[in-house]
Amino acid sequence: MVKASTALDIHPEMDAVVLRAPNTFAVERVPTPRPGRHEVLCRVETVFICGTDPHIIEGHYPGFWPRAYPFIPGHEWSGTVVGLGEGVAELGWRLGERVAGTSHCGCGVCRMCLIGRYNLCENYGNESVGHRQYGHYTQGAYAQYVVHSIKSVFKVPASLSLDEAAGMDPASIALHTVKRAQVGPGDAVAILGPGPMGLLVLQCARAVGAGRVIVVGRGDRLAKAAELDAETVDYSASDPVDEVVRMTGGGPQVVIDCAGSGASLAQAVEMCRKGGSISVIGIPLEAAALPIQKLVLQEISVHGVRANRGTCEEVLPLMADGRISIRALITHRFSLREFPQALETFVGRRGGALKVVLKPWA
Ligand SMILES: [Zn+2]
Ligand SMILES: [Zn+2]
Repeated sequence: MVKASTALDIHPEMDAVVLRAPNTFAVERVPTPRPGRHEVLCRVETVFICGTDPHIIEGHYPGFWPRAYPFIPGHEWSGTVVGLGEGVAELGWRLGERVAGTSHCGCGVCRMCLIGRYNLCENYGNESVGHRQYGHYTQGAYAQYVVHSIKSVFKVPASLSLDEAAGMDPASIALHTVKRAQVGPGDAVAILGPGPMGLLVLQCARAVGAGRVIVVGRGDRLAKAAELDAETVDYSASDPVDEVVRMTGGGPQVVIDCAGSGASLAQAVEMCRKGGSISVIGIPLEAAALPIQKLVLQEISVHGVRANRGTCEEVLPLMADGRISIRALITHRFSLREFPQALETFVGRRGGALKVVLKPWA
């Protein structure tokens, strides 16, 4: 057991969504994990379904995410510190601290970690030197409790609800995405794909000073972008490249691809202004044919984006003061025991599903 002086009252067993094989899962009673050195045990208050989770559950990344079964997914969460591992109190951590989690935990000593790019840790997957990726290959937060390294939890401002704070991980990725593309004051920014990530990128682009934000999509999700005061282009009604170029008088300075198809990536390059830049957050599963001559002759920069680095602490104050609203994206709430219905709702986009909340203690 965790020493009484460093833990609140902890149940020895907990509810968790346990994946036993591709697409085979159930809510089960499993032992509550214990925090090791530089780790905290947290009581999970809220966890969201991320767009990556259905792929992990369906087994689209065999041997990688997850590496082995049984496995507990889930990495967009908030909660309360209820147990302190060795060496944590000395670093200022206290029981009862409200926190939000993020998935990447770099080793802390490789060249990439030392320059702050821990999302590209050279020891990815090497747990013996301290690397973790929670909810991907390390046990995650679709559970009543989760253990995290103190490198992968952040203190939540008092004015931010834990329900909203569970969106810190995707919001921090959206912020990293606009920073990679170097959105400047007054820039026009086009966003392809108004899913949860596109709608967060919209808000982050504005928070860092974009002058205009134009979202390309269709249906309910595009309507949500309009509700968030973006200009919109329905790609089923007109050619999105022509339309965005026309609206901006020559193309936006920044284009962000959140759609993740080969076609959307080519459109991003085609609509981008001379000298502009593109961030790519969607992961196309097919090869993309890019207009290479335009990329070269118009000096267009393309930036890949993997998760985030260092933007969790930056995004939390923007969430706390409402410039980035997670509440606007929450469409459904379920208890963890209702996980199968919650997943169906999310995957099928039932009832305009965007962010689907799970409550492990409901
Ligand atoms: Zn995620
Ligand atoms: Zn590293």
